[in-house]
Amino acid sequence: MTIQYVCRHCGSVIGVLDGGAVSESRLGLHFLTLAERRDIIAYNADGGMTVKVVCEFCREALEANPELSLVGSPLQ
Ligand SMILES: [Zn+2]
Repeated sequence: MTIQYVCRHCGSVIGVLDGGAVSESRLGLHFLTLAERRDIIAYNADGGMTVKVVCEFCREALEANPELSLVGSPLQ
């Protein structure tokens, strides 16, 4: 199973995990509510997952300019 971490703001790929034995609990995803999981995790047709997170660049930008979070997320 391939797990791709993508920034939800700029869309850049942060990292890719490729491990057959990676479980959701190992990724910490079991702490999320169902609604959060639906928002953050996308299951791909090939059986992999895409996890939407915030990259370091965007995190710093958001911390410096909190109002960006209101306009920074692209509609999908
Ligand atoms: Zn980003």
